[in-house]
Amino acid sequence: MNGIAFVILIALAADFFLHLLADGLNLRHLSHQLPKGFEGIYDAQRYRQSQRYLKTHTQFGWIASALQLIALLVFWFAHGFPWLDRWVRALELGPILSGLLFIGVLLLFKAALTLPFSIYKTFGIEARFGFNKSTATTYILDLLKGLLLTILLGAPLLAAILAFFEYAGPHAWWICWVGITLYMLLVQFIAPVWIMPLFNKFTPLEEGQLKSAILDYAQAIEFPLENVYQMDGSRRSTKSNAFFTGFGKHKRIVLFDTLIQQHTVAELVAILAHEMGHYKKKHVRQAFVLAVLQTGFMLFLLAQFITYQGLFDAFYMPQQSVYAGMLFFAMLYAPIGLFGGLLMQVRSRKNEVAADQFAAATTQDPASMISALKKLSVHNLSNLTPHPFYVFLNYSHPPVLQRIQILSSAPLAPEGHNL
Ligand SMILES: [Zn+2]
Repeated sequence: MNGIAFVILIALAADFFLHLLADGLNLRHLSHQLPKGFEGIYDAQRYRQSQRYLKTHTQFGWIASALQLIALLVFWFAHGFPWLDRWVRALELGPILSGLLFIGVLLLFKAALTLPFSIYKTFGIEARFGFNKSTATTYILDLLKGLLLTILLGAPLLAAILAFFEYAGPHAWWICWVGITLYMLLVQFIAPVWIMPLFNKFTPLEEGQLKSAILDYAQAIEFPLENVYQMDGSRRSTKSNAFFTGFGKHKRIVLFDTLIQQHTVAELVAILAHEMGHYKKKHVRQAFVLAVLQTGFMLFLLAQFITYQGLFDAFYMPQQSVYAGMLFFAMLYAPIGLFGGLLMQVRSRKNEVAADQFAAATTQDPASMISALKKLSVHNLSNLTPHPFYVFLNYSHPPVLQRIQILSSAPLAPEGHNL
């Protein structure tokens, strides 16, 4: 076996067993004892239900990822890649269209493979635990819109990257880097205006106590805010959320209708204060810069590997091509991606604590932040006692008990607005 194939196989196996190990530890870490502070919020039955939800999800995840791994290995070692390449080349479409077709067909294979799992998850598991609100029509429409968006937004970008690597020689990687960065910015601008309304209805929050409380708070911390919107999240799920979109002075807050139903005004302001904390502490900008740097690093490495014969030998490909080289490189890059992802999560968990503390200090009301966190975790059946290794591997936020503990012990120093 060739060295590259060996490295990719080891990486695939390591990734699979690492997650299996973390899942196992996580399940064994469940305790029947309801953690302190959750009495009266979680009743015994709902707490047991949250643990059943975790078990069901974990076991389902094992089956799904095992089958996907097996499918990939079978396709690979049954010489599926050169078979598809011969078929694409026979059409004589030129390097760019051939690349779009080659990668497009593989993405369709993958989507067809994961679709049954997604259907079972939504209409089996999520429905059984009372979360799913999506109808078959909504689900199918979402799928079609997603497919259309992938074609409209993804295909031109992929075609451009293929073209630069095909024709721009040694300059390709940095031209693509600049192009992808501009593209990411563009998508951030058009997403709230054109993309998100395709999936949900956004209505400006009606005048009232909630809206004025939010606007007052934003003004107090000098946070530029264009408007507050409500989104019909209840169309798909009873799970709740809130997020920001837009840039600069045009930032909008979006609250799920499910979130508004479940929380008091003080709790909602605390949740939004946390979100604004991410902006004020420059976490959002940081995350973007890191994503840009990571993209540049990956493109630079891609340029070094894309014509390396060993990469094509590993997948039994007799002929080199930019599109296949890109795909195989992505598999070789996966372990570096995993490692980079873990570092990003360490940073993200630290930022979450900082945003919590920002919210507590600026609202002078840590109690509302704490009760919001408690309600959210009960409502979403979150695991209150995850294993530390599982947290390290999978969590972008610290476990809720840790966040509550930090909030309860934090001194309430008022924050300078310029921090
Ligand atoms: Zn956050």
